[in-house]
Amino acid sequence: MGWLSDRFAAGARMFAAFAVLSLLPVLALGLTLAVQYRADVKSRGIAAGSDQADVMARVLSETQLEGHDLSTGLNQAEADRLAVFAADEARSGHVRRLRLRDRTQRVVFADDASDVNAEPDDEVEEALDGERVALITRLNSDYGDTAPAGERVVEVYTALRSSQTGQAIGVLEVYLPYAAIENGLHAGLVRLYLTLAVGLVLLYLVLAGLALWVTRRLSRVAAQYQHLALHDPLTDLPNRALFGDRIAAAVAASRRHGTVAAVVLLDLDRFKEVNDTLGHHNGDILLRCVANRLLGAVRDIDTVARLGGDEFGLVLSGAGTPAQVAALLARITEAIEGEMELAGLPLSVEASMGVVFIPQDGETPEDLLQHADVAMYVAKRAQTGVVYYDCAQDDYNADRLSLVAELRRAFDRDELVLHYQPQVKQPTGQVDTVEALVRWQHPTRGLLDPDEFVPIAEQTGLIEPLTQWVFDAALKQLKIWHEVAPELVVAVNISARSLQRNDFPLMATDALARAGCRPEHLLLEITETALVTDAVRAAEVLHLLHAAGLRLSLDDFGQGYTSLGQLRHLPVSELKIDKTFVMNMLRNSSDAAIVRSVVELGHNLGMHVVAEGVETAEALASLLTLRCDVTQGYFFSRPMPACEVGPWLAAHALATEEPVLA
Ligand code: C2E
Ligand code: CA
Ligand code: CA
Repeated sequence: MGWLSDRFAAGARMFAAFAVLSLLPVLALGLTLAVQYRADVKSRGIAAGSDQADVMARVLSETQLEGHDLSTGLNQAEADRLAVFAADEARSGHVRRLRLRDRTQRVVFADDASDVNAEPDDEVEEALDGERVALITRLNSDYGDTAPAGERVVEVYTALRSSQTGQAIGVLEVYLPYAAIENGLHAGLVRLYLTLAVGLVLLYLVLAGLALWVTRRLSRVAAQYQHLALHDPLTDLPNRALFGDRIAAAVAASRRHGTVAAVVLLDLDRFKEVNDTLGHHNGDILLRCVANRLLGAVRDIDTVARLGGDEFGLVLSGAGTPAQVAALLARITEAIEGEMELAGLPLSVEASMGVVFIPQDGETPEDLLQHADVAMYVAKRAQTGVVYYDCAQDDYNADRLSLVAELRRAFDRDELVLHYQPQVKQPTGQVDTVEALVRWQHPTRGLLDPDEFVPIAEQTGLIEPLTQWVFDAALKQLKIWHEVAPELVVAVNISARSLQRNDFPLMATDALARAGCRPEHLLLEITETALVTDAVRAAEVLHLLHAAGLRLSLDDFGQGYTSLGQLRHLPVSELKIDKTFVMNMLRNSSDAAIVRSVVELGHNLGMHVVAEGVETAEALASLLTLRCDVTQGYFFSRPMPACEVGPWLAAHALATEEPVLA
């Protein structure tokens, strides 16, 4: 579950980063707006002061002054009226200071009786030119003022105009208290600040909420993907990748705490039959049912994984003693084997299990899996249910073990190939049969001969899919050759194990049907020793094959395993002398004697006799004098890839009437 908390931590980090980062622009925006607003307030304050002064100037011109140029001075009546006006304004607090100047800047009236010869001001000049001059300043901060600077005021200069002519007659210089103006604006300012702040907070909250939502959604989607990547979609169990992680965790725990854990590979027996006969849909139902039964049988701390197909894996953490594991496996077996109904049919499921212990049977997940794989195949082969890996008992060295695992994958990876070796009829030299010999194009070891992997396949149960593959590949190729050589026969080698299976003839006829070939086009080569294991059962299978129309050949014949009596009752049409006798017949008289007697025996029983391992012209000459029917060996050709067979046959048509392959 580590990745889950990691994911939440990452989500929280992402959200925190967003929260901080998005707060910065929101704050900057707020600050800019506030500064801008302050500037606005200032200019509005100035504008309000100017308006106030304009009104005052108009009132003064129209009601207190008599319209003459102020340069001539005020008359007494004007001076009195102005004094009253100024006193009223000062009392009501509307004006702090008020002066009137004439066009030469001379002060003609001052509410505070200040200097009549005040310094000339640019502002007065501008006001006379018709401009409105206003600024925010402090009382007494003017040039010439000696009192300490006082409250903030709006200082305005505006022209006084004659109400009759509209001419500028002088200038009103007035100081209005800024606080009063500012207060008027303040309520609006506070309201705006508040709106701004609330708006920004809301904006931030919306953004943050959006980020939280997106973060959560993203982590949910990520979790879904993660789940899909690590689980099997059919059963929702951990898949092979996660299973590997769980094994690694068990290995680490065992190293740290000295605990013992078990890893089990479990393969259902005959699942393929269920799939083939009842369909994939029912196969899926069966797999889900098995998954549930496994989950029900193990403890919470254990892992049940599906590794693909009908293969499951278990990690029994803290397994305790082998006896406890055995008890747990017995419970699992019982759970799986309980009767179930599928497509209305009662069905019993059986499984083969390979068990390894951590740390005793391996210290890395790879080793453990490989050893469990071997144990499972031994279990499958022996049909004993559960097999515990035992390195002392097995001759499975590391090399062999990795080959087993690789061979299982070789089918899917298309690494197997067939080579073909012609069998030459004598004395005509016609070729009507080619023997299919399997090779493994291994990714790192190069082209492997069957001796290097067929025995392993036989020991691990992989021989079944191998034979199936050889059938399909050989018959598919034969079908192609039949377009130009319709009577060509392909010989396929059959392992002893196949002869112990009653369903083997069905597998052969199915393959023929799939390829669209007739039974007489398939020759099965069965080694003489294959008849030794369970002669009765093997004979039964041979009879079934014969009844199905297939031709049978006894391969590697001559070791003397088969009695004459036995041979007489076998439906075999051909004896194939073991190549060691043929190769040595010119040097060794007893080998020559065996070759001679096998040829005679075969002919007496009405069979063809084939000599393989013909390497020289001398050996061929000798076999011809013995009237051997068919010869095969390096003297004619080594086994070759399918693409070379046609040209070879064309070149070696040996003056016969046989059709020649294109
Ligand atoms: P086999 O059935 O006795 O096949 C004949 C083997 O002798 C082949 O070896 C072939 O290449 C080799 N051979 C042929 N002519 C000569 C010759 O003149 N001199 C010498 N020294 N050898 C010759 P290969 O292909 O390595 O196959 C070995 C064995 O592997 C086969 O013996 C057969 O038992 C088994 N095998 C091959 N393909 C299959 C298969 O598809 N299924 C099964 N179950 N076994 C197979
Ligand atoms: Ca053979
Ligand atoms: Ca042989």
